[in-house]
Amino acid sequence: MKSSVIIRQVCVYCASSKKIDERYLLDADALAESFLAKDITLVFGGGSVGLMGRLADRMLASGGRVIGIMPQFMKDVEWAHKGVNDIKFVKDMHERKKRFLDGTDALVALPGGCGTLEELLEAITLKRLGLFVKPIIIVNLDGFYDPLIKMLERCVEERFMAPEHLKMWTIVSDSKEVLPAIYTAPEWDEGAIKFAAV
Ligand code: AMP
Repeated sequence: MKSSVIIRQVCVYCASSKKIDERYLLDADALAESFLAKDITLVFGGGSVGLMGRLADRMLASGGRVIGIMPQFMKDVEWAHKGVNDIKFVKDMHERKKRFLDGTDALVALPGGCGTLEELLEAITLKRLGLFVKPIIIVNLDGFYDPLIKMLERCVEERFMAPEHLKMWTIVSDSKEVLPAIYTAPEWDEGAIKFAAV
């Protein structure tokens, strides 16, 4: 990504679980602090618990800008973060994933469960097709994402994907490295469709 590009809005995929280790929560605080320092708007799933809740809480505590995007059915079961004023309630999970990507300057995946993994893999799939071209940063705290990274590398080794596809994501070891990784991510464009098929 060109260093002259200004990062205004970053979408973060992350866990909803309340039972995770403190180190993941502290790392989410670090991500929020880096966004606050650069006046970056957080876009997230709109939840009040887990890493989602922690990120939003840390941003809001310092007057940061936060946008939540949540399907209506989650609001109905009271999952929405009450402190986030700017929550867009959407029809379903598909619309939510689409809205996450609209207008974002980068995507970040913190550790999470199947929801986070699914969102991350969909974004990578769209990027392979040239339908999403922004940096994707995977925060591999304490090797959390090692098995997924290995799986993706195996896809390339066994020619289910091409070596160029390894440039679609950047792996960092903690959230302090996220913004530098966004600024130095390899360029990607719609022309990726030309080498999407192996
Ligand atoms: P996971 O990584 O499996 O925790 O998934 C994160 C995603 O799970 C979010 O983007 C939501 O779609 C969904 N989700 C699951 N539980 C909750 C919750 N309590 N509040 C908000 N979103 C949730």
